[in-house]
Amino acid sequence: MAEKRIIKCPNCGVFNTNKEYCTNCNTLISHQKKRELKADIVKQNEIDKVIHERENPNLTERLKKHPNILYKITGWILYSAFTIVSIIGAGLAWFIAMVAAG
Ligand SMILES: [Zn+2]
Repeated sequence: MAEKRIIKCPNCGVFNTNKEYCTNCNTLISHQKKRELKADIVKQNEIDKVIHERENPNLTERLKKHPNILYKITGWILYSAFTIVSIIGAGLAWFIAMVAAG
């Protein structure tokens, strides 16, 4: 890479050339690297959330599997309601994204 990037360390004020970490105090100074790390954290959070939901079935899931038919029906009603709400939410998010992009 021919491009020279000089970044001033926000922690100690030392100037670093083409470095991701400060040579003086080892603080992360690369903006690109920071973005990458942030994206990784967001991705990891999403994965954790899915795993958590898998391991801890919520009330509707438990009701759906309940031996009592009345609980089961309640579970399915709640499940349908949640599904409809999330579909509307997703549609709304898509709409907002489209408006923001346009
Ligand atoms: Zn530093």
